[in-house]
Amino acid sequence: MNNNEKEKVNRIKKELAKLRQFHNRCYVCHVSWHKRGMTFHHVKYHINEKTHSDFPSGYAGTLQYYEYLKPIIKKNPKMFAYLCNPHHQTVTKLLQFNKDKQERIFKLVRKSR
Ligand SMILES: [Zn+2]
Repeated sequence: MNNNEKEKVNRIKKELAKLRQFHNRCYVCHVSWHKRGMTFHHVKYHINEKTHSDFPSGYAGTLQYYEYLKPIIKKNPKMFAYLCNPHHQTVTKLLQFNKDKQERIFKLVRKSR
């Protein structure tokens, strides 16, 4: 792990989080920083846009990815949501199901209070 690269990635995330669209907090729980990290979730992808997996693994690749992503996020903030990593995992998990299953899950969750 290279702390310098990790630090640079976090600096880019913190800078982008200040864009008006993101309110400098997780869309779901409103924390401004989480010990497990923060991420920009793609709401919509453009055709031909690269994903994290197109870059090398580890912080060096993540830094390259965020340097690639930074102007895209600045130009199209509505294509992204700022999330803490636990809530990003939740969203990613739910996206594995089709719309009907998601709806049944949401209905069940709302009834389970
Ligand atoms: Zn959160």
